[in-house]
Amino acid sequence: MITVENLTKAYRGRSGTTVALDGVSLQVPAGTVCGVVGESGAGKSTLARCIALLEQPDSGGILVDGTDLVTLRGSALRAARRQIGVVPQNDSLLRQRTAAGNIALPLEAAGAPVEARRKRVVELLDLVGLADKAGNYPDQLSGGQRQRVAIARALAANPSVLLADEPTSALDPDTTASVLTVLDRARAELGVTVLVVTHDMGVVRRICDDVAVLDRGQVVEHGKVLDLVTQA
Ligand code: ADP
Ligand code: ADP
Repeated sequence: MITVENLTKAYRGRSGTTVALDGVSLQVPAGTVCGVVGESGAGKSTLARCIALLEQPDSGGILVDGTDLVTLRGSALRAARRQIGVVPQNDSLLRQRTAAGNIALPLEAAGAPVEARRKRVVELLDLVGLADKAGNYPDQLSGGQRQRVAIARALAANPSVLLADEPTSALDPDTTASVLTVLDRARAELGVTVLVVTHDMGVVRRICDDVAVLDRGQVVEHGKVLDLVTQA
């Protein structure tokens, strides 16, 4: 379960202050998929970066399984970051490492033994439907396959939360479907709680249980996808 409580964040620059998050509260029950939608500039990426612990909010809390992550520092913060798997917005694989090598990165960082790494990488390649592509380099994979490797890498350290920022924005409809299938499998088979930032209502309809609509840093709608989509 992720609980975001009254999160605020402003960027202060030479040309003034931009309020990116203006009191965002959100609850995502464990093992569900929540979509975050909204116009460009609404605060979606800022929210995602705060939950990924890549950015410090000005105030508010982010509770994952009861721990407020905002208060953590040092090694506790680094450990908490491992509990959050992040699928970055852009093509993020290391070009000089194979699919398996990319997926193994978080396991190497965590100091997992060679045999455990190999076993986990095989499981993850299987989960994302790329068992036959272990030895392919990113250049030898399609955009959708690369995105599935990025999802497998985000899941490698067994996080309880998976955060995907526009995971399908660069993909065509067929490829999008394969990536969404993988996110749904992660939820169903690993029980991870998934937060998907997207501007695509098709993504919301296909895999999200709940959806939150952000507008100028505030949640203006939050509810079951079925209810909101029927209303619209
Ligand atoms: P979205 O992802 O919904 O497009 P963002 O979170 O990227 O929204 O942006 C929210 C607001 O914060 C926008 O007005 C944006 O210009 C501003 N913003 C985002 N990142 C920065 C930054 N690093 N410095 C200054 N302003 C920023
Ligand atoms: P790269 O050439 O991409 O750096 P390596 O062969 O160095 O890849 O392997 C990096 C990591 O990926 C290692 O932890 C290894 O256990 C794992 N690995 C590599 N190939 C496979 C594979 N075919 N199946 C499972 N794990 C693999």
